[in-house]
Amino acid sequence: MNATAAPIRRQIHPPPVPPSPFPYNPGSMLSVQDLNLEAVGYLLSRATELEGMDPLVRDRILLKRRIALLFYESSTRTRTSFELAAKALGADTTLVSSLSSSIEKGESLKDTGLTLRALGAEAIILRHNSSGAPWLLEQCTHLPVLNAGDGMHEHPTQALLDLRTILQRLRHGADQVDAGTLAGVTITIVGDILHSRVARSNMLLLPRLGAEVLVCGPTQLLPEVTATMGPGIRIERDFDAALRRSQVVMMLRIQAERLAGLQLDLEEYKADYQLTGQRLASLAPEAVVMHPGPIIRGLEVTAGVADGPQSAILDQVSNGVAIRMAVVERALLAQEGRV
Ligand code: ASP
Repeated sequence: MNATAAPIRRQIHPPPVPPSPFPYNPGSMLSVQDLNLEAVGYLLSRATELEGMDPLVRDRILLKRRIALLFYESSTRTRTSFELAAKALGADTTLVSSLSSSIEKGESLKDTGLTLRALGAEAIILRHNSSGAPWLLEQCTHLPVLNAGDGMHEHPTQALLDLRTILQRLRHGADQVDAGTLAGVTITIVGDILHSRVARSNMLLLPRLGAEVLVCGPTQLLPEVTATMGPGIRIERDFDAALRRSQVVMMLRIQAERLAGLQLDLEEYKADYQLTGQRLASLAPEAVVMHPGPIIRGLEVTAGVADGPQSAILDQVSNGVAIRMAVVERALLAQEGRV
């Protein structure tokens, strides 16, 4: 055997994933419950700083760092804003969606995650139809994972951008928050509470700032058991009564893709829970109207309300980019101890 013929082997693959305790990565954001109020305040103020920064300075922050977007469900706002946010910081992004990748051929979430890691991804933004999928992905890859919506469970960055929108409208854009920041504010979340990860993340966040959250909807979409979801949250089935008390009304889409055979009389639903111009003008003429999108005009809200002066729906969309810049930056810099 000729010993000199053996090539020097350089390690070109990432090292195997070592076992480690939870939480695997300090940059991950899997749930709003991962964030204390100090962290929420940090992200809100960092979003404002990043938004106001010279784009040519800002894009040095994550210059050429690699971020993967892994989307198993459709998305317009969340996907685009995460991508624009990462690019605004100078990162390279790549999108893997279930319809044009080996996921279609049956590749597992674990193997897809490990593949992205081997390709050099330093963080993964995941949307998945199964609740809990981001935890699994983080466990398999140990990369920072940002939950962009997991099944019927959580959508933490949506809750942060919703909070930023509420603070802009009701608290002059304050970005330092504490347990009394939203004291005296009643926020009604209306519609398909059962299937909504947006409702869940907001219900886990807003009462911690002192808001009263009313959840409102028919029993099929808001079972009685949901009443035990936490302090500061109450069921109010009478939409008109809820509206009378609300400074903010957050409308939800009926999640047709998750109804699983559940029958709903849409005419009855509209009569009881549609936000119409007349309802709004007579019961909550000052309230801020929110909706995470996509809106189904003529079902949960009328077109007039969606486009009207009380609507903050497009502000929510814009706030998505600012908040996601702060969250993406934290994803990569937290593990280096830099934020
Ligand atoms: N865009 C939000 C979500 O992904 C709300 C919705 O789809 O209705 O959860």
